[in-house]
Amino acid sequence: MIKSILEEILSGKELEFDKAEILLGAGQDDLHLIMRAANIIRKRFCGERIDLCSLINAKSGLCSEDCKFCAQSVRYKTGCEVYSLVSVEDMVSAARLAKKQGAANFCIVISGGGPSKEEFEKIKEAIEKIKTIGIKVDCSLGSLQIGMVKELKSLGIDRFNHNLETSREFYKDICATHSYESRVSMVGMLKDVGVEPCCGGIIGLGESPKERLNLAFALKKMGIGCVPVNILDPRKGTPLEYVKPIEPLEAIKTIATFRLILPKAIIKVAGGRESGLRDLQAMAFMAGANGMIIGGYLTTKGRSVEKDLQMVKDLGFEVK
Ligand code: SF4
Repeated sequence: MIKSILEEILSGKELEFDKAEILLGAGQDDLHLIMRAANIIRKRFCGERIDLCSLINAKSGLCSEDCKFCAQSVRYKTGCEVYSLVSVEDMVSAARLAKKQGAANFCIVISGGGPSKEEFEKIKEAIEKIKTIGIKVDCSLGSLQIGMVKELKSLGIDRFNHNLETSREFYKDICATHSYESRVSMVGMLKDVGVEPCCGGIIGLGESPKERLNLAFALKKMGIGCVPVNILDPRKGTPLEYVKPIEPLEAIKTIATFRLILPKAIIKVAGGRESGLRDLQAMAFMAGANGMIIGGYLTTKGRSVEKDLQMVKDLGFEVK
């Protein structure tokens, strides 16, 4: 069964939902076969290059939205750092460090539904300066008006991150203040303007395997080429504080299945890599992943960049 799925994908056929469901429901005995298939597909369609990116949380906390997984919502007492937009110089120095550490892309992220006019002007100034230091610039600024997206495009940003977070069906269980549709239409707007969306979600929120697959198939339908896969690190004070974390092998099986659904996409292991995969992090890259965030996340530190780069080298990947 797994061999025939592999042959079908290699021949250009798309993985069907019912077959993806069988893969995600497979037991541990089949996991190494699924991983092997995902690795072959990654090699065939994406090669040996790994996409490393780094980010700055340029405005932390202060978000009025209610995403139940998020430490930055003002509705939850999580003790996360709270600060308004950092200076242009801070954004530029963080980008310099990211470049020095080996990241190909640097993402400016702010919490909240979208920047004010003043914040947007500062971010634009930072983008212009960062472009001169020779690293690609991405943004994750919430929902924007089309005029702002056009301005970012004219500044030459590489990608704009806007995640679907989870499946359409499960979304109502994690967020009530803005809709799944608004997320889909923001991604559609990015595509219309010609800015590449970076769009993925979080696994381990309490969604069913079917709902997890629905996320992957929605991303496929939208033609997303860069898919961050976050693994929930249940944060104290959030409504998801007591959700049972996804098992590392289940997360790896999910990543492998996502690769088989999205053969050509960059599948980027994002937030929660260290806590969600623990000592099995390298296995994710032998199961179809070909990207990761280095140098820490929005409200949590990652492991050292040196360890990540050594892992990339040991796995035989070339850094993009
Ligand atoms: S995920 Fe974004 S929009 Fe949702 S609460 Fe966190 S910062 Fe706000």
